[in-house]
Amino acid sequence: MAQETRTTCPYCGVGCGVLVRVDDDGRTSVSGDPDHPANFGRLCSKGSALAETLGDDGRIHHPEIGGRQADWDEALDLVAGTFAQTIAEHGPEAVAFYLSGQLLTEDYYVANKLMKGFIGAANIDTNSRLCMASSVAGHRRAFGADTVPGNYEDIELADLVVIVGSNMAWCHPVLYQRLAAAKAARPEMAVVVIDPRRTATSDIADLHLSVRADGDVALFNGLLAHLHDNGWTDLAFVAEHTEGFEAALTEARRLGPTELAEITGLLPQEIAALYERFAGAEKVVTLFSQGVNQSSSGSDKVNAIINCHLLTGRIGRPGMGPLSLTGQPNAMGGREVGGLANMLAAHMNLDNAADRDRVGRFWAAPSLADRPGLKAVDLFEAVADGRVKALWIMATNPVVSMPDADRVRAAIAACPFVVVSDIQRDTDTARLAHVLLPSLGWSEKSGTVTNSERRISRQRAFRAGPGEARADWWQFAEVGRRMGFGDAFAYAGPHQVFAEHAGLSGFENGGARDFDISAHAGIDAASYERLKPFQWPQPADGPSPDGGSRFFADGRFYHPDGRARFVAAKGEAERRTNWGFPFVLNTGRIRDQWHTMTRTGKSPRLSAHLAEPFAEIHPADARACGIDDADLVEIESAEGGRVIVRALLTDRQARCNLFVPMHWTGETSALARVNALFPGRVDAVSGQPALKHTAVRLRRHDSAVHGFLVSSEKPEGVDTDYWALARTEHGWRLELAGSEPAEGWEDWLRRVAGLSSQTDTIGYYDRTGTRMAAFEGTRLVAALYVGEGPVAVSRPWAADQLGQSFADPHRRADVVAGRPGKGGSDKGAIVCACASVGINDIRAAIASGCQSVAAVGETTAAGTNCGSCRPEIRRILESMMMQAAE
Ligand code: SF4
Repeated sequence: MAQETRTTCPYCGVGCGVLVRVDDDGRTSVSGDPDHPANFGRLCSKGSALAETLGDDGRIHHPEIGGRQADWDEALDLVAGTFAQTIAEHGPEAVAFYLSGQLLTEDYYVANKLMKGFIGAANIDTNSRLCMASSVAGHRRAFGADTVPGNYEDIELADLVVIVGSNMAWCHPVLYQRLAAAKAARPEMAVVVIDPRRTATSDIADLHLSVRADGDVALFNGLLAHLHDNGWTDLAFVAEHTEGFEAALTEARRLGPTELAEITGLLPQEIAALYERFAGAEKVVTLFSQGVNQSSSGSDKVNAIINCHLLTGRIGRPGMGPLSLTGQPNAMGGREVGGLANMLAAHMNLDNAADRDRVGRFWAAPSLADRPGLKAVDLFEAVADGRVKALWIMATNPVVSMPDADRVRAAIAACPFVVVSDIQRDTDTARLAHVLLPSLGWSEKSGTVTNSERRISRQRAFRAGPGEARADWWQFAEVGRRMGFGDAFAYAGPHQVFAEHAGLSGFENGGARDFDISAHAGIDAASYERLKPFQWPQPADGPSPDGGSRFFADGRFYHPDGRARFVAAKGEAERRTNWGFPFVLNTGRIRDQWHTMTRTGKSPRLSAHLAEPFAEIHPADARACGIDDADLVEIESAEGGRVIVRALLTDRQARCNLFVPMHWTGETSALARVNALFPGRVDAVSGQPALKHTAVRLRRHDSAVHGFLVSSEKPEGVDTDYWALARTEHGWRLELAGSEPAEGWEDWLRRVAGLSSQTDTIGYYDRTGTRMAAFEGTRLVAALYVGEGPVAVSRPWAADQLGQSFADPHRRADVVAGRPGKGGSDKGAIVCACASVGINDIRAAIASGCQSVAAVGETTAAGTNCGSCRPEIRRILESMMMQAAE
């Protein structure tokens, strides 16, 4: 009998429900859960490809100590003993946990309890610091609690949706598709996108404002003044439910129109267009994400946005309010358990004595932390200077994701004791571990996650983990037990952790705190198994505000006086560029990859759309630097650090701005860990690093040779200046550039592709380059193409030939040539990852008469699943139609 499981996607904060089906023969397929209120059956390209990421390759199967296999008892005794000894010798501040928004709430809860309640320090921070900390700080300043007021339905009900600093079409695709569908059904709905780049999200925008980096506070301060001066103020709401408006308005008025235009980089008429739309639409939702949060003024940006909603009383009612889009699947769950260095559990505050007392009593904690711990950047500073001597990193890859990433790598490498719990062995961080612990991954672990609209959903296991892999909460509980705190960590399963978490949320609450799910306190295993997605709050002893779906419609906030706060946000934006470093560097995600690609990188389909690290450059800037499309370029920052990536010229990029994605690591590229270019500059309030704005210079990177390799085996020992590795259906593909290897290309190929002595190679070598193919019997196992410039090869076609039999010598010659022979076809670079449709297929459909994105979809299936590729199909269509008209 096929087995079906309802679970939740492990990627972005939309939190889509996933239906997993495992057939009798073990084949696994996924589809969107039609009953899940986040996605109603939709999945994006990443969610759709989840079944392709379940492979065992690269997984850690057993605990390891110093590179040798160990059993759990030995490894956990070592971890507990070393942490206890370090605390005894140097105090509790000498140890730290660095965790992840990928963790389940239950994992987070146990880690937070161990560190803050029993170790007695608050040195527990997570990669959510890189993601959501400014939103948390902004919410707490404005509302008195980290409360997301609205929900996803508001986006569909709004008359105006303002999207600030978010390429939602790629980073929160299913929610974007909900917005796009609502706009298609109600064309009078307006969408404004505020982003330096014209991204795929701008595709449905009525107005795109290419704001200068960090010009957002000034833009929303100007809006606040405009709304006030033109009578768009809800005076009763402001008077009865808020404080601090005069100070915020005074600050907002400090910048005149000239300064506003200068700081935002926008024309007065563009600014006026936004202001008029915002003033004139009652139902306004402002969505914001990393372009707001990852800034040295991130908290002020959040408050500048919230100020405008408070002034107009547009909060907590259907179709209106600020809505922060969480980057990670469980950033919100981490916030609920207080999994950041400056928070306590269940939305209580570390700096509040009554809260500390309450949590301490609930946990029966012997030594509750009494002050905030180190936030991520400071934490790794403390590792670097030796204050932190024992560090446990779980489910995250700070050697890639932290700013100043080279310094972070050096700090971890020098730390006396590093524990890494992960699922993959070869991450840049796992390589530095003294103790490596095998964790369960998505599909194997069980618990809950909370999405951007406060909806808690179950992630359910549907298969066993490899080897001795164990749950993350269990690892912390076992270390807690071994440190002498057994009674407090005697959980029989994740349901008991959740039951306790729910109990704490309602403990002495009485409506004083927003986060209350005490309706689930004491939940048993069977009910936990059946738990349906629900939005918090769900208190045990009373109704939720507005049925639990919205906060603040009643004007009651969580500051002691019940009023919200306007915050006087500073409008000036730092200018970081100078004559030596004239470009603003921005980073972010691409459509089909997630974080450092440890899971999505396993999917050939997801690796096919953009298979190399790249920099988006405006064509005029590229011309000025002597750079052509597809050249390699070097980018260096003022603070040090260098990457080599491929140039992608596009007028969707703003002048003097560059964009480089964040996904490539030391595992997948030679030199493309882009966060190594960013200094550890943070927002002073939230401690969130500014990962969207640093000053860099740009130049072409010249190489004597360029090449492309496909190989059945994973290439090892690649030593060229530039390389980038990606998975394909039958092996791997590698772009490379550098100099001729001393050993010659054939020996290089044999070494890198791991070819046996039985492998035959054929090829040709001339002044322009080398092309060779390697066969085991008649089966193609590798092919290499090298030339003085970028080599002409039909890359997807060449990759598809791996593993095929080539008895016919003519067909072997096609492989050496790197393109299909007569009668063959080449779909070209993949545009639609869901249906694996290439650009050549799309062009052919358009040439044969398809005149709309829908028509292309009917002919090729491209864009008919998640819809994330529709903007790209539209651009291809427009460009071909324009060419035809010329
Ligand atoms: S939008 Fe995509 S990545 Fe995000 S939760 Fe849904 S399926 Fe997963």
